[in-house]
Amino acid sequence: MLLLGGAATTPLAVGAGYIALHTLVGLFPWSDFAGALLQYWVGEVIGIAVLTPVVLVTLRGTLPRASWRGGAELAVYGLLIGITLWLDFGPLASAQYEHFYLLFLPAVAVAVRHGLAGAALASAATQGGLIVAIQVTGVETARTTHFQLLMLTLAVTALLLGAVVSERRRVEAMIRDRQSALDRVSRLTEAGGMAAALAHELNQPLSATMSYARAARKIARLEQASPRLGEILDKTVIQAERADRVIRSLRDFVRKGHSNPAPLSVAALIADCLVLATPVAGQHAVSIQAEISPGLPAVSGDAVQLQQVLLNLVRNAAEAMDTPDPRSRRIVVFAHPDTEAGFVAVGVRDSGPGLSDVVERNLFAPFVTTKATGMGLGLSIAHSIVEAHGGTLTGERRPHGETVFRFTLPVHDAGPNHETGINSDDA
Ligand code: ADP
Repeated sequence: MLLLGGAATTPLAVGAGYIALHTLVGLFPWSDFAGALLQYWVGEVIGIAVLTPVVLVTLRGTLPRASWRGGAELAVYGLLIGITLWLDFGPLASAQYEHFYLLFLPAVAVAVRHGLAGAALASAATQGGLIVAIQVTGVETARTTHFQLLMLTLAVTALLLGAVVSERRRVEAMIRDRQSALDRVSRLTEAGGMAAALAHELNQPLSATMSYARAARKIARLEQASPRLGEILDKTVIQAERADRVIRSLRDFVRKGHSNPAPLSVAALIADCLVLATPVAGQHAVSIQAEISPGLPAVSGDAVQLQQVLLNLVRNAAEAMDTPDPRSRRIVVFAHPDTEAGFVAVGVRDSGPGLSDVVERNLFAPFVTTKATGMGLGLSIAHSIVEAHGGTLTGERRPHGETVFRFTLPVHDAGPNHETGINSDDA
């Protein structure tokens, strides 16, 4: 758009001066000023609009890669352009050049298939063909402007369509990248959470095993049991102590998982989450809406971790809604100032069946799940992340089958700098 805007305005200013100068010295009558200016302008604009995009896409290296299939496709487009020019300028042509509109077909097809680079090449090829046809058939100068205007319309249409197609592909690729990055982080965090939960669960039986083994060793010594038994009990204590050290270092490692708290816009956090949740929404045929109070202050936190919390809540809400009625599959992601000063409340509300009794009784406990392939770690990890940020996460089943998960986040600068990380005790 910028290029086309520049291409349209600059030659207008230059052309006005140029034609005025020639008119002043008597080369044209003033009555021809508008016509001469149009001729000058369209010639310049078409040159810029057709050639500059080709130069730019070549310099950026975004031209389609050469291949046999590409070559065959190119030949078909070339043939179409050739046939149309032959119909308009060949022996069967009328003076009206009424088949010009057919040139839009290959240009639009290339723009849709190959984006901006394809569109730039297609309009340059069409323009080249047109120049050759005009030169060969000797169209009079007055008609040339007519063709140039038609060509300009074609170039602008193809370029804008190509730009939209390229932009869409770029955004799709970006969403795919971010989705897989988030999936990776999500898997790692789940693994971390699982390790923390395992460490927590194994800690007690291991301590008990160590105490029993030490006691048994003492009794064996006191009662002068076989030295072989004492030896085995020594080895048992050594191995149990070793396992205890491994578990301890695992817990320390998980506990020290630092993150980067920074000022974050809640609206941006939610907007990012909605983009990332698009595939989930499509998969479960749910609609997701945002309700954000205006003028919310920035919060302090780690964007990746908080996005994971929000996405997890949205995914859970979407997975919970298997109702046959598509109208009631609605998720609202909301944010508003919290009742406690210095905090912002963020949450997810859904119109699903509500939390089951088991989940409600053990909310945020690890390994609690009602899903066949669930791990039951999502809510527990989300709870740890929010607590590590200095906030609280709550979940409640409302009457009329609604579930609301809501968490608070400290306003940036309103509290101490929180060092976030998943704490194995929380998990
Ligand atoms: P997972 O998704 O692997 O089951 P989570 O910890 O994320 O693990 O969720 C635990 C359980 O909480 C889910 O199995 C589900 O039964 C319940 N749950 C979570 N969110 C919702 C919700 N919005 N509506 C109903 N149940 C929910």
